[in-house]
Amino acid sequence: MNIIIRDILAVVGAETVRSDIYIGNGTILSLNERPMGFVPDKVISGADRLAIPALINCHTHAYMSLFRNIADDLPFNEWLFDRIMPLEDIIDGEDAYWGCMLSCAEMIKSGTGTFCDMHMFPNATTEAVKKSGMRAVVSRGLSGGKNDAAGGARRINEAKAELERYSSEPLISFMLAPHAVFTCDRDYIKEIMRLAERLSLPLNIHISESAAEVKSSLSEYGQTPVEYLDSIGFFAHKTLAAHCVHLTEKDMDILSQRNVSVAANPKSNLKLGNGIAPIKALHDRGINICIGTDSAASNNSLNMFSEMNFTALLHKGTSGDASAISSSEVLSMATENGAEALGIDCLGKIEVGYKADIALISTSNPQMQPMNNPISALSYSATGGEVDTMITGGEVVMENRRLTTLDEEEIYHNIKRITKKLGGNK
Ligand SMILES: [Zn+2]
Repeated sequence: MNIIIRDILAVVGAETVRSDIYIGNGTILSLNERPMGFVPDKVISGADRLAIPALINCHTHAYMSLFRNIADDLPFNEWLFDRIMPLEDIIDGEDAYWGCMLSCAEMIKSGTGTFCDMHMFPNATTEAVKKSGMRAVVSRGLSGGKNDAAGGARRINEAKAELERYSSEPLISFMLAPHAVFTCDRDYIKEIMRLAERLSLPLNIHISESAAEVKSSLSEYGQTPVEYLDSIGFFAHKTLAAHCVHLTEKDMDILSQRNVSVAANPKSNLKLGNGIAPIKALHDRGINICIGTDSAASNNSLNMFSEMNFTALLHKGTSGDASAISSSEVLSMATENGAEALGIDCLGKIEVGYKADIALISTSNPQMQPMNNPISALSYSATGGEVDTMITGGEVVMENRRLTTLDEEEIYHNIKRITKKLGGNK
């Protein structure tokens, strides 16, 4: 579809410029000058709107939106092993699909165009992504080892089957995701590393999310999770590490030397009582930092504006330095850094030749006025509800707050049905 966004204030790099944006073939064709022979199928007014690169959520588990507000105010291990994992045994693939649909609706409505998902239910995320028109990097969460050889093998086979089945989807790509050091033994992780090598896929893993995880790694391997993974050559592969809350100075040096990208999930880490990732220290080492929401079971929303706000504020508080992480740096983390972490070229900026993934934000909201500094407004004032139109892959997936690809009523109907099945009755 050929689209013109007319006369809009656009965030281009660290600046804002007033421009027309010409979109065709899923790409930003031009800013200001009409390309030769360009005939628009659609004209969108830029009046009272701000154009930003669609946000990139670098860590979530989309199906888990089914568990929103179901297991709150609990310590991490109790939350995971006593509450969440038994619920995962109750739901089936179709339930997971509706959880993913709910997540896609929430993410689109709060400005996210791309997300990185780690799932347990084959084809649920991919089918929801196809339907929604979002862009996603999908990975089957892999756990296994000597104690669960059959389960580990099954999960790897599911990962392989899914990436084969969806290999030609233009907006879907894949990673391999050993879940964590404490859920995969050494041989199993090495098997995944060999597969990543053979299929040229990046790796996605939880690292040092909780103090207990680091303690168990030290007792089992005599090394922190980062040291241990480095010792087996894990970081020779392009890696996206989620959380990285409990790191030593040596861990941070290793992540820097190996060019590991870190997905910060500040709200989930706070909510589960896991702590605060040393984002300022990682940032000072030049590590590529992106932002994730984690799942709605531990956040409890998938709203990247809220996550940007926490990222901007937390590290000022912990460092005692109000200039620690600027609003412009936070926006980069939520856009272009995310694209780099996910290995997607030409994504995360409003620039000619980049993918046409754009969020249009209404500035006709009290909290967005006056527009003294639009980039600051994104981290410090916006709630996400100001996003009124979303374009991903050059197609409009929301217009004036109405989803064009998803039927919200149908989603809520199915969510109600599944909530009853899980023991809720609202
Ligand atoms: Zn996670």
